[in-house]
Amino acid sequence: MPEGIEAEMYRRAALRAIGRSVSQVWVDARCGDPASMSALVGATVIDARRHGKVVVLDTERMSVGMHFAMTGRLIVDGDAPIAELAYGARRDDPAWDRWVMTFADGGVLRVNDPRRWSRYVADPIVGEVGVDLYSPAAAIADALNVVGRRRALKSVLLDQTVVAGIGNLIADEVASAAEVAPRTPIGDVDIGVVARAIEATVHLLDRQGGSHTGDLGPVRRHAGAVCPIDGAELAHDTVAGRSTYWCPQHQGGT
Ligand SMILES: [Zn+2]
Repeated sequence: MPEGIEAEMYRRAALRAIGRSVSQVWVDARCGDPASMSALVGATVIDARRHGKVVVLDTERMSVGMHFAMTGRLIVDGDAPIAELAYGARRDDPAWDRWVMTFADGGVLRVNDPRRWSRYVADPIVGEVGVDLYSPAAAIADALNVVGRRRALKSVLLDQTVVAGIGNLIADEVASAAEVAPRTPIGDVDIGVVARAIEATVHLLDRQGGSHTGDLGPVRRHAGAVCPIDGAELAHDTVAGRSTYWCPQHQGGT
């Protein structure tokens, strides 16, 4: 967290910056190079884009890429699109601000990040990551079809060079929606089913308010939790290096 869905919510919030002139930029030097951002002062924001988990703010002089890591929240003019992240802090302490961009009209776009892992990069290159998670199922299927067939589904879903923007929670929701166990080799699954599950899951979680709102969200990530679809006890293990939950009843697998 945040995953690509939260980044998309941040991008939509950042659209409010378009057409506004930047009067001041401050970045925590542990998260970005302050000198590289100086050209932003006096520039006007012309677009807010996103690819995967990265939001890119464009001005007519330069762009800045924002990586939110585990706990970064974007706040524009005091409004946060997500009140709290599933694993994040519940407070908005100014001491946790890592990026503060003030506009000539007095408004502010900032990123509050208690853990300090967010990153700010001048003129980022985002073309090196995979197809975006909001892409149509056909484009996602094309990306999945060229992956090594013996790799586990969960590992493929988390690989940002295949589909950019899927994190740990979305990956588990996709496996559940596709009715496939997370360790299943990608060569043994129907790629079309998985691609359509990604498309449907991303839009569902977006509508519901974030990657934490699914069937296998944080409220069920504990021992003894049951599947909301069929009532079976959920399985839990580390898969592809990440804490993973799935339903042995409708997904199968060990
Ligand atoms: Zn189930």
